[in-house]
Amino acid sequence: MPDSDSPDEETGFFFHHVAIIGIGLIGSSVALALRANGFEGPISIADRNGEALREATELGLGTSYHTSAAKAVSGADMVFLCVPVGAMGATARAIAPALSKTAIVTDTGSVKGSVARAVSAAIPDKSRFVPGHPIAGSEQSGPRAGWATLFRHRWCILTPTEHTDPAATDVVAAMWRAMGANVEIMDIEHHDLVLSITSHLPHLIAYNIVRTAYDMETVTEQDVIKFSAGGFRDFTRIAASDPTMWRDVFLNNKTAVIETLGRFMEDLAMLQRAIRWGDGEQLFDTFQRTRNIRLSIIEAGQETAAPDFGRPRFDPRNPGRDVDQDQPHDTPHEAHHDHPVDVPDDDYDEEAF
Ligand code: NAP
Repeated sequence: MPDSDSPDEETGFFFHHVAIIGIGLIGSSVALALRANGFEGPISIADRNGEALREATELGLGTSYHTSAAKAVSGADMVFLCVPVGAMGATARAIAPALSKTAIVTDTGSVKGSVARAVSAAIPDKSRFVPGHPIAGSEQSGPRAGWATLFRHRWCILTPTEHTDPAATDVVAAMWRAMGANVEIMDIEHHDLVLSITSHLPHLIAYNIVRTAYDMETVTEQDVIKFSAGGFRDFTRIAASDPTMWRDVFLNNKTAVIETLGRFMEDLAMLQRAIRWGDGEQLFDTFQRTRNIRLSIIEAGQETAAPDFGRPRFDPRNPGRDVDQDQPHDTPHEAHHDHPVDVPDDDYDEEAF
């Protein structure tokens, strides 16, 4: 377990100074969750995107703001990499010279194998790297999309490498628990296979079904929108997810996704055959089994039983309003800066990312 003389045994945060690199949906949620759960130390934030930094400043997510990732990690003893999966290696190389000897580095990437290899190879002490993946998020991006309870009652999977110091894993696990998450330790390959079916493939299917609908020559774009039924609308929500993030996920979890996609296409061909030959029994049995799977997900507390995912009723007087607009940052946070806000364009350091 973490040292008992560490900063704040009561809160579960066994470190003094956090750096967050990449202040999008996940990075901002980490910042909010740390504060909401009692972390009082400095939070240094870096992003390559000046607009994201400005928004983070306005929201008071950190105590200092940097376009250089290396500057942000200076003095930090907990470093969070919250950039897209394909940018993890370059980010780790950029911060490596500035990392303090005792700093623990963790990440939130949706793929673990490629990230673990890239970050471990880049940082000076690979025993201080604890790969992680919170199973929580949304299709929205950027610092305004984050909220303090995003991780509450959600799983966070940690996939320590063969080099990871178990004490560092304990510190990261305690931190996620302090932010309300349940922690599971998992083998890296197993993570990438499980997530390929539970997360990556559903996104691929959503991207493809929305594309196919728009490409169909006989259906005009207007008709797709006008007659969009619940099922299709749910796919469009997923298919609105960040293109950079998801491009990187597929490029970095190639083997597992191709394996899972192969299984999926075989099963789809069986359904196609059942429809062609009028095999209602086969269709009914399949749909009954999948309905039971949804019920078990609800029983496990991972989803609501409310109709239409518990969405508020659509208000025709207020079209365009979406659920997340009803879900404001639920932790009041005041902008407080220990240091002058450091976001000038001339501080931008291409190498840092
Ligand atoms: P996000 O909202 O898009 O934020 C990512 C931030 O990283 C943006 O400010 C972005 O700046 C910056 N960035 C993009 N490309 C970069 C690069 N090449 N180098 C440096 N910075 C770069 O993304 P997110 O949803 O927070 O995801 C962050 C990480 O968490 C990803 O690894 C993702 O796989 C993982 N994750 C996401 C979810 C989810 O539901 N979204 C859930 C769990 C884990 P720009 O605006 O300039 O691109």
